Parts: sequence; C-alpha cells; structure tokens
Amino acid sequence: MSINDRVSQWVRPEIQAINAYHVPDPGNLIKLDAMENPYHWPPEMVEEWLALLRQTHVNRYPDPTAKALSEELRRSMAIPEGMALLLGNGSDEIIQILAMALGGEGRTVLAPEPGFVMYRMIATFCGLEYVGVPLQEDFSLDLPAMLAAIGQHDPAVIYLAYPNNPTGNLFDEGEMEQIIRAANGLVVVDEAYHAFAGRSFMSRLGEFDNLLVMRTVSKLGLAGLRLGLLAGPPAWLEQLDKVRLPYNINVLTQASAAFALQHLDTFEQQTATIRQERSRVYEAMARHEALTVYPSDANFILFRVPAGQAERIFEAIKAQGVLIKNMRADSGPLAHCLRVTVGTPEENDAFLAALGKAL
Ligand code: PMP
Repeated sequence: MSINDRVSQWVRPEIQAINAYHVPDPGNLIKLDAMENPYHWPPEMVEEWLALLRQTHVNRYPDPTAKALSEELRRSMAIPEGMALLLGNGSDEIIQILAMALGGEGRTVLAPEPGFVMYRMIATFCGLEYVGVPLQEDFSLDLPAMLAAIGQHDPAVIYLAYPNNPTGNLFDEGEMEQIIRAANGLVVVDEAYHAFAGRSFMSRLGEFDNLLVMRTVSKLGLAGLRLGLLAGPPAWLEQLDKVRLPYNINVLTQASAAFALQHLDTFEQQTATIRQERSRVYEAMARHEALTVYPSDANFILFRVPAGQAERIFEAIKAQGVLIKNMRADSGPLAHCLRVTVGTPEENDAFLAALGKAL
C-alpha cells in the first residue's frame, strides 16, 4: 500500500475534500490583505513592555484562568456585570470550541453568506452540517430566508458577524434581534471589527438566553498575540469552558495583552486614524467609474471590478508592490471582487496609485 493510499484510507473524506486555508507569503509587499492594524507602538511603550517581559516566567505554565488579563478585558470591553468570559487562541479557537461543545449527529451551524470562511471550515472539521443563507444584493440580511432556514434546520449555532467580513457592513439591529428570538440554539454575534464600527451587542448580553458576543484583539492591533474572547451568560460558558485546552492562552500573550489594554488610548488613536483613512480611501476609489465600492464599517473595503478583470487587476496591483485579497469568484455575490485592508496613509496612497494604474 502506498503512503497516499494509506492517507486516503484514514483521513476523513470531508477533510480530504477541503482546500487548506491559504495564507500568501507577503515578501516585501505592502501588506493590505489581512485586516491588520498597520501601526506598532510608541518607543516608550515598547520599552515598558520589554521590561515587563523580562519578569515573565516562561518556565511556568500560564495561569489557566488568565485572571489578570480577563480583568483588563472586562474593563476595556465593558463586559456587563454578571456575564462570564471565555478566552481563545484567537476567535478562531472559540469557533472551534463552540463546534466541539455543540456538535454531534444532525447538528447544524448557520451563517449568512458571503461570510467569514472559518464558520464553514471549522463546522466541517468538527463534523457539523453547515448552512449558508445568501445575503441580499446590497449585503443586508435576507430576514425571511434566515427565519425559514432557522425553522428548517434548528441550528445549534448561528454566526452573525457585526460588521460582516468580507462585505464590511453592519446588519440591521432589529433584524438581528428577530433572528436571536427565532433561534432555539445559540446566536454568536462576532464583533471582530468592533473597533471600527462603534456599534455592539455587548451591552445587550443577558437580555436573551441564547446570545453570546465574540470579540478579538486581532484587528485592534494585536493580531500576533492570538487572543479572542466570548462573553455571555455563565450557564453557557461554564459548559464551553470544559472543552477549552487548559493552557490555551500562553504566558507571553497574557502578559502582553494585559499590558496593551492598559494603554487603550494608543489603540484608540490608531483605530481613529484608520477610520479616517477608510473614508478617504473609499472616496478616492468611488471616483473610478469602473468600480463598485461597498461602504464599510470595518477596516477593509470590498470592491467589484469589471467582469473578468479581477485576477489581472489584483496581479497588476501586486506587481506595483501592494498585496490585497482576491476573493476569487467568477460568479455569485462576490463575483469579480477584491478586498483591501486600510493601512497607513502612505500605504493607502501606494494602493490608490497602483489601483489607478491597474484599471
Ligand atoms: N471573525 C471574523 C469576522 C473575522 O474576519 C476574523 C479574522 N479574519 C476572525 C473572526 C478571526 O480572528 P482571530 O482568530 O484573529 O481572533
């Protein structure tokens, strides 16, 4: 038996069928493909952080409850009193914890589409069914379709990304509320891009038995630390916590994220600059008649180029030193769409110049 035969005998067919999540090597390109905050920290903040790391003991296991970090998160993210908190190695890991805890024969994950690809991928990894419900043409929720799908599939978890990735818009709050009320299982409002949106369901936790709010520090400016969080009623989180690996948030992340959150003003200044740049980049892009540019409440902008041109334009921008994201769709709601992350003013200028030449 060849090694390939052996692999295909044992690896689950649905895993063999998946294309691996591809992260391109940026080399020396300006990186506007992954919704990162382009700014690091002021030098004095870096010095203070390094002093803290000198006293951090990597020979010891991390605090399994991440107590100090959790307190900073509760304070900085205004997590309502009485709500519990679960931390993950990125919110990706929280999506996995939810799938492991709620999965099983006949269990379904449901999300509007286009949406964040990990909802589907992790459902598949963990053996859950995945149902994607198409958004309307303007990327708003198709409420009747969502309610019908909820009635049909009785999903264990519904994800509503607020704002949504890759479309960048906020769904209607009243429609989300109707979905939460119609669902028997959990509704996770994924607020990964909260820092750029200014709207949130966090203060509404506790109002519904089945609402959880997920956040990440990635887009705020700490993507390298890998830290996500889930907030909600203790009855749910006590169960989910059983599935979490005991030391999932490492010592360096606990120390660094707690430190960073004590300097929230630095991140607030950075995200305010990114929001201003988002308007400037959007307006500059919207002047190109060939493009359809979608308004965004996140730190990225989705845009549609003329049919059949996406690959050429993506490559032409890349050849000029800027890496963005090609949504790689020839049909459907993301047909001919590219997505650019908002960077520093200089990076955005480089992108706008490259786009102008590429069109
Ligand atoms: N949710 C959404 C909507 C996202 O776009 C992303 C990252 N692209 C994540 C969750 C995952 O974030 P992380 O694992 O970095 O916390």
